Amino acid sequence: MTLLSCNDPAAAERWCALVRARGETLGFVPTMGALHEGHLTLVRRALRENRHACVSVFVNPLQFDDARDFERYPRDLAADARLLAAAGASMLFTGELRQFFPAAQGGAVPCRDPGPDAQGLEGEFRPGHFAGVATIVARLFELVRPTRAYFGAKDYQQCRVVLHLARELGFPQVVVCPTSRDPDGLARSSRNQLLSPAERQRALALSRGLFAAHDAWRAGERDAARLEAVLAAELAREAVQVEYAEVRDPERFALRPSGALPRARALIAARVGRVRLIDNLDLAAEDPA
Ligand code: AMP
Repeated sequence: MTLLSCNDPAAAERWCALVRARGETLGFVPTMGALHEGHLTLVRRALRENRHACVSVFVNPLQFDDARDFERYPRDLAADARLLAAAGASMLFTGELRQFFPAAQGGAVPCRDPGPDAQGLEGEFRPGHFAGVATIVARLFELVRPTRAYFGAKDYQQCRVVLHLARELGFPQVVVCPTSRDPDGLARSSRNQLLSPAERQRALALSRGLFAAHDAWRAGERDAARLEAVLAAELAREAVQVEYAEVRDPERFALRPSGALPRARALIAARVGRVRLIDNLDLAAEDPA
């Protein structure tokens, strides 16, 4: 299958409609580009479960609260197209904000309510971020109308926001894929390429913290505060600026827990130099990798 590349969301919408009219299934992977192996695990899964994989590459300005972060975000559409062609994707599309929201005509795009799970964590440190995510993802779902859409657990809170959105819209089926990591544990991220070699070493504190908390859970620790202390202790060993390092009960995600937890997800955000990284782990998972 040759990759069809298109820089007009309206043309992508027509192609997707054609595919659906032929009765073929469509797996959709929304991304911000600078694609890496983590993204490709989603594309391959989409191809295993659908006839076609359609990938969007759009650095969505609505979800950046910091203009410099938006400018610095890595972009390489030609390399993205090469990776997607090699992976067997059918379609890559991109576009400008005004093409996605022509009705806004240069004015502000009305943002969607991202739902209850957008509170706290990323929602606290990146105000407006999830409203921006929900707004573009809803628009992408409308354009592509995929059979299934694929998201990475690496952005766990985002997955929760998207699952809520898909329930509200009544489609599509959302598939959450495991976090893909480098062999030393670092969660793959487009932002990793902004790290110097020394910063990359320091960045390992995030996954180390999560794995230490996982070990503590396996050893029987269930107390939220003590699990958070394990995260904090590991992060304190490196020069990283922690924004949050918290443990949440996924069944009561919006609440900060206290006391013993029946299940737990640990979530971290930290700045390493100028680069902001996030990672998370299901502490009760058999195999944390
Ligand atoms: P991004 O381009 O960072 O917006 O990511 C696009 C999609 O790829 C999102 O659903 C991410 O959660 C997912 N993703 C990014 N990095 C990884 C990773 N290391 N493992 C699994 N999924 C990932």
